[in-house]
Amino acid sequence: MSLTTSPAADAAFTEPAPSALLLLGRGADLQSERGVECVGGLPAASDPDLVERARAARAALGDRAFVLGHHYQRDEVIAFADVTGDSFKLAREAAARPDAEFVIFCGVHFMAESADILTSDTQQVVLPDLAAGCSMADMAAIDQVTDAWDVLVDASVADATVPVTYMNSTAAIKAFTGRHGGTVCTSSNAHVALRWAFDKVGGVDGTGKVLFMPDQHLGRNTAVQQLGLSLDDCVVFDPRRPGGGLTTQQLRDARMILWRGHCSVHGRFSERNVADVRAADPGVTVLVHPECKHEVVTAADMVGSTEYIIKALDAAPAGSSWAIGTELNLVRRLAAAHPDKKVHYLDSTVCFCSTMNRIDLPHLVWTMESLAAGRTVNRIVVDPDDAHWARVALDQMLALPGY
Ligand code: SF4
Repeated sequence: MSLTTSPAADAAFTEPAPSALLLLGRGADLQSERGVECVGGLPAASDPDLVERARAARAALGDRAFVLGHHYQRDEVIAFADVTGDSFKLAREAAARPDAEFVIFCGVHFMAESADILTSDTQQVVLPDLAAGCSMADMAAIDQVTDAWDVLVDASVADATVPVTYMNSTAAIKAFTGRHGGTVCTSSNAHVALRWAFDKVGGVDGTGKVLFMPDQHLGRNTAVQQLGLSLDDCVVFDPRRPGGGLTTQQLRDARMILWRGHCSVHGRFSERNVADVRAADPGVTVLVHPECKHEVVTAADMVGSTEYIIKALDAAPAGSSWAIGTELNLVRRLAAAHPDKKVHYLDSTVCFCSTMNRIDLPHLVWTMESLAAGRTVNRIVVDPDDAHWARVALDQMLALPGY
């Protein structure tokens, strides 16, 4: 993961800590982002003046700052967001505010990277807690992906393979995709991106391949449900095994080479959850995110991105009943926004996205107060060469039909 911080923040980093889990605001491990020191001190969550401090810092920054809030963020953070949305919508919103000196990204690391790529060099993108990474994005490291490409070259299939990476990937992986003639996709347009990629190598009915990273489930669900490929057309490339755990023949026969990555939140929903909610509420409509496993998506009634889920609930008639399989913060807000509908969480044992939840009001207050005091903290700057090639892949996505 390419990462650069401001000099002020750099000065605060110490040697990597031995612990795999660091307390918020204490200790730092810049390489793994397991934690970061908050220069000047993190406000206590119990501070009774926290909301007032947030209001005052936000007012002091005025139009110099633009606060973005991902749909999976906590309510206490969303309350201070100038705009909410999914990762790509937020990156575009940031790019549409060239006058904002600071873009405060309340989301996770890859999202702030995308915002840095799409905003001007004079704008500073800030992530309130550098420990807010994404476990899915971290499952595809650039060294692993370049090694995997070498495996495809050795198997004589690289020339017939187009890489497609999900937005939920590091800037380095997006740059790899741009360098190799591929595209970025979102959960809304993955089917369009896959058709475009297959068209480059002979069409969906041909013999060309797509290397899809890092979410195997989104890749498989899209290929099978929307492009008509079979499960047998899909293989899973495991970067921890020699040759990805695949034979040369398997690579040659495959149409979808799926990276072995998944979302730690959506990957927990199960077929059993769907059966249980149907048994408890026979009239329920089960609506899940395409990052869920294939058997869950197959058992559900509807599947779509977070924006799709929000629109589906908005359009649903009063009295209807829904079971939603996505992150809990969003589902709780949907339930509160639709008191005339019954909104179940698909699995009550599935919890929040823990890395998204690293961004809390104390971190947001610390960030805004630091910026208002003239101290840039937690700035995200993508390596210029990676930024160029990631932009190529992002621009390719923008050129896909529908954008
Ligand atoms: S919900 Fe999943 S994909 Fe989204 S940030 Fe969390 S771990 Fe990453």
